[in-house]
Amino acid sequence: MSLQDGHDEIVLAVEAVSELAMRVLTRNGLSSAQAEPLARAMAAAERDDCRSHGLQRLLGCLDTMAHPRFNRNADPRPQEVSAAATRIDADFGYSLLAFERGLPLLVQKAQALGVSVLAINNCFHSTALWPEVEAITAHGLAALVMNPSHSWVAPAGGSKPVLGTNPIAFGWPRQGHPPYVFDFATSAAARAEIALHRRDNKTIPVGWGIDSDGNPTTDPQAVLSGAMLTFGGHKGSALATMVELLAGPLIGDMTSMQSMDFDAGAKAAPCHGELVIAFNPALLGRDSIERNDQAAEALFGAIAGQGARLPSERRYRARLRSDAEGIRVSRALHDRILALAGG
Ligand code: NDP
Repeated sequence: MSLQDGHDEIVLAVEAVSELAMRVLTRNGLSSAQAEPLARAMAAAERDDCRSHGLQRLLGCLDTMAHPRFNRNADPRPQEVSAAATRIDADFGYSLLAFERGLPLLVQKAQALGVSVLAINNCFHSTALWPEVEAITAHGLAALVMNPSHSWVAPAGGSKPVLGTNPIAFGWPRQGHPPYVFDFATSAAARAEIALHRRDNKTIPVGWGIDSDGNPTTDPQAVLSGAMLTFGGHKGSALATMVELLAGPLIGDMTSMQSMDFDAGAKAAPCHGELVIAFNPALLGRDSIERNDQAAEALFGAIAGQGARLPSERRYRARLRSDAEGIRVSRALHDRILALAGG
């Protein structure tokens, strides 16, 4: 490891971050099967410099595990719905074990049919979506993943929270390059970001939210007790509504409003469904796969060639750095987590 521990930071290998998360989760009663993919996702988030989904999530995991409906020993089993569709009931555990157990059928069906769908039901969800997208693009497939959350976001033109922060992630496999991946919430800003501004007594930009009377405000507290807004006005609002429908009623699961009611003030991670779609370019392409790849690469080249960056480039750079030098973790956070792990 080339980086040295500093006064305020320590340096850990990716595996050490994962092991630390694993210790906290299992010591607090989560089964090893549930904890393993979650710990790996947190370590990957630290490695890729997506800290909001890294080790600090462990603190919220304890609230989630305390929810009366949370199942610490959930043991999801995939069920074939049709030639193209697979359902997996997460059985009120975390989403990731369900995703990992559903992935082989999703991939196999997309390879055979050109497109395939995985519906995950009854999952508590607290992770970023890009690790799932990357797990699908690793098989040469394109991927689209989405889920609702809790109703914190007002629709464009409205004043009351109805929609979730509803992330959408997309991935496209590339030869000789990491996949093209984007992954973002449909809210204008993350709820945690607004809470950070409140903690630091800072105002937020206009457009992030409205107060409880529906008026635009730069006061983070007014937005947290009023409503967040989507990005892109009516366009983001419609996209967030699409996520509600496709990862909610379409697969027989909760909308963000229903998920908020289900939480009943427990402040657990939102519980709902997740929709995962895989596309096989080798089957759907009209031309040869090589020609289609060339067209995609020409598109990426035209974007990057004018100085614009592709989404995930920052993450991939952070990944290379972390793999070579280790991951810097704040000593204060590490101490809090060690206490949760029993020292
Ligand atoms: P951001 O607004 O930070 O956008 C993230 C995406 O946009 C990344 O793919 C990022 O790539 C890319 N990006 C950022 N800046 C640029 C740029 N200048 N040019 C090109 N691409 C850019 O994300 P959010 O705050 O909306 O979401 C963060 C995470 O939170 C996501 O992973 C999402 O899945 C997660 N989330 C999860 C929820 C859940 O219910 N589980 C709910 C809401 C959010 P890069 O990473 O390389 O910067």
